[in-house]
Amino acid sequence: MDSNEIDNIKIEKVQAECEYYDVMGGSHRHSVKVHDHGSVTLVDSMPRLAPVGQTADFAIVQAARVSYGAGTKKTSEDKGLIRYLLRHQHTSPFEMVEFKFHCVMPVFIARQWIRHRTANVNEYSARYSVMPDKFYHPSANDVRKQSTANKQGGEEPLDTKTAEEFLEYLDQVEASYKTYTNLLDKGLSRELGRIGLPVSVYTEWYWKIDLHNLFHFLKLRMDSHSQKEIRDYANTIFALIRNIVPVACEAFIDYSFESIKLTRLEIEAIRSGKPINTTNKREAQEWEEKRKQLGLPEPIDQQKSESA
Ligand SMILES: Cc1cc2nc3c(=O)[nH]c(=O)nc-3n(C[C@H](O)[C@H](O)[C@H](O)COP(=O)(O)OP(=O)(O)OC[C@H]3O[C@@H](n4cnc5c(N)ncnc54)[C@H](O)[C@@H]3O)c2cc1C
Repeated sequence: MDSNEIDNIKIEKVQAECEYYDVMGGSHRHSVKVHDHGSVTLVDSMPRLAPVGQTADFAIVQAARVSYGAGTKKTSEDKGLIRYLLRHQHTSPFEMVEFKFHCVMPVFIARQWIRHRTANVNEYSARYSVMPDKFYHPSANDVRKQSTANKQGGEEPLDTKTAEEFLEYLDQVEASYKTYTNLLDKGLSRELGRIGLPVSVYTEWYWKIDLHNLFHFLKLRMDSHSQKEIRDYANTIFALIRNIVPVACEAFIDYSFESIKLTRLEIEAIRSGKPINTTNKREAQEWEEKRKQLGLPEPIDQQKSESA
């Protein structure tokens, strides 16, 4: 490396043409408690500064205008552009906005969360440090029974007796923490000692993600098919970013989160008014849910068989 070449590079420092403000209102962090020991903290945002009178949404418009030209400049037109971009899945401008969070959650939630590969993560090391004496311990009301409709899910509360039995079982499992620390005191390595701890033990990480990939995470994890515990975290993240990129968040709800995707067979069923042309029970059930959500009448054949 020729350091002279680098030393000779001239950097032009351009002053802003307008006044800027801190989108986090000058706060060091924005923090929300989740469950008994968990939390989501917004640590930083990119952009951190926005022109006075605008929100961090401006960074999406700024990036998009590279491809669409300076053109329109009014706030209402900026909003229209953001909504157009999201509707048409022109996603790269949304990658220009980033958020960094500090998240504290039980290991069983972290396992679901880490499947989202498009974030940058740095997790607490249980090889380097002792795991905290903190476990996710739901209240009796939050103990759900196995859903019969959804093999992966739970639904309304379980009977009190069984819920209490489950909570006693968690007490016993959590008591193993004492054995963990005793064995560490006797010289057991932390990297092995941790393997006896339950997945309800808390871990933490820094998690940085751009807005496009965050919307993908939120679409999946704010959805009712997601486990309630991770959904609580996803909803918290949404509440934290909504103040910073309100226009993009509104467009996300309108065009992504609360939109319905229709398959070719479903479109045919709407056009014909007949039952969906499939023998697959699950597909038929999914269509039935969408049909009700859309407020569409029952298919013709079904009406006939019911009146016969
Ligand atoms: C309700 C629910 C139930 C689930 N159940 C299970 C389960 O039972 N078992 C299980 O294992 N998982 C399960 N998952 C996890 C799921 O399969 C996904 O791994 C997770 O939701 C992350 O989604 P993603 O890959 O789209 O996200 P990301 O990893 O954030 O990726 C975003 C997008 O980037 C692209 N991408 C990223 N990395 C790659 C790559 N290496 N190759 C190709 N494309 C890539 C893909 O288009 C992907 O959609 C479940 C998820 C949900 C929401």
